[in-house]
Amino acid sequence: MSTTHKRTKNHDHNKCVVCGLDHNLTIDHIVPRSKGGKDKPKNLMTLCFKCNQEKANLDPWTWLCKLPEFVRNRLETRINVAIFFNEPKELHLNFGYMMTWC
Ligand SMILES: [Zn+2]
Repeated sequence: MSTTHKRTKNHDHNKCVVCGLDHNLTIDHIVPRSKGGKDKPKNLMTLCFKCNQEKANLDPWTWLCKLPEFVRNRLETRINVAIFFNEPKELHLNFGYMMTWC
């Protein structure tokens, strides 16, 4: 595991940021690499295997909308920072749409 990935796990207290599980952890790219997401700290978060599978290749806003409200509130800022940091074109175009969709 790279230093960047280790740092992400430390930052997340070695827990899944969605469900709090402390094992079977993976490092997730908030904006998927297939959608232009970078392998940089601002685009990484710790997810357990199950939560990572549920996120799959969804764009981050679509994923966020599927989460329970208290999780969504906790993660919203982080997800938005990752999106703006990555500046994926298609997500910017969908910005207005996604924000009113939840
Ligand atoms: Zn989880």
